[in-house]
Amino acid sequence: MKKIGITTTVPIEALLAAGHQPVDLNNILVSDPEPGRLINIAERAGFPLNCCSWIKGIYGVCLDSGIKDILCVTGGDCSNTIMLMEVLKLHGLNAFPFTYPTRPDRRAMQTALEELVASLGTTLTAAEEVRHRIQPCRDLALKLDELTWRQNTVSGWENHLWLVSTSDFNGDFQKYSRELKSLLEACSRRQPFPTGETRLAYIGVPAVYARELYPFLEKLGARVVFNEVQRQFAMPEPGDSLAEQYTGYTYPYSLQERLKDIKAEIQRRHVDGVIHYVQAFCHRGIGDIVFRDAIDLPLLTLEGNADFFLNAHVKTRIEAFLDMIQRRQKITKKYPANLLSLAGELSEGEH
Ligand code: SF4
Repeated sequence: MKKIGITTTVPIEALLAAGHQPVDLNNILVSDPEPGRLINIAERAGFPLNCCSWIKGIYGVCLDSGIKDILCVTGGDCSNTIMLMEVLKLHGLNAFPFTYPTRPDRRAMQTALEELVASLGTTLTAAEEVRHRIQPCRDLALKLDELTWRQNTVSGWENHLWLVSTSDFNGDFQKYSRELKSLLEACSRRQPFPTGETRLAYIGVPAVYARELYPFLEKLGARVVFNEVQRQFAMPEPGDSLAEQYTGYTYPYSLQERLKDIKAEIQRRHVDGVIHYVQAFCHRGIGDIVFRDAIDLPLLTLEGNADFFLNAHVKTRIEAFLDMIQRRQKITKKYPANLLSLAGELSEGEH
């Protein structure tokens, strides 16, 4: 199978139907023992210092890994990918575009899919067959997600790792399925996490320091029970066709589309606070204004750049955020809600 690098989640069913192996370049970057080395390749080639590390890292992976064909998502993800594609072409790589429609419209998605399968030399019928074959893997990933927040037997890191991997199923969806089945089996024998823990939602693109972030939160008595974008990669709204599946996928569309999903899930999962991760130099950071306005819970905005570990500054901010939430939880537990509201009314009357 020819490997095709992908810059974010794409309709991999089309690639598999054409006999190719999709490889998520982001996952290669973060699992490299020295990811900074890959970013340096881009900076030495002339990528600006104030360009996002994911873009630079993807460029480094393309040159380092020997993958010659790259499917670049130029609409619905990142406008920097347009220039990345141009530079990859300059180096003789076969970089070609895929664009999500500007809004979640089934017919527009159908047209985008038809163009994609034609460019790969396959058909939508073949891609639909692949969709049926990999649906059980998506179901397993969503089962793990449910165990995370309902049975409380899965850590935030495990949830992140298995859901984020659905973008390419680590290059082998049958192996992914076998390994995840055995993890689910192990989870069924686990004791649940303690009931008094702080429940967090994580929204935004995956963090460069994800490997350290989730265990650090758990050390402080908090656990991520909702990983927004990672869950979307697993396609929680599959519908009856590829066009419906990728129309129900919220990440490429407006923040209002994403917020419908986020607000429903934070309520369903009894979330106490939200972490919004933004990547340095990313246009998506501006969306923090919209999230802060729309989400009625304590929200901590964390930024990361090329630091693949949690620095002291980020740790202190997380500790202060959790301390604030946990103090609030203790007060709410000690005093019933009606007493607290009476106290509020009395103190208002004093002014
Ligand atoms: S983090 Fe932002 S700037 Fe970087 S690749 Fe993703 S969308 Fe683009």
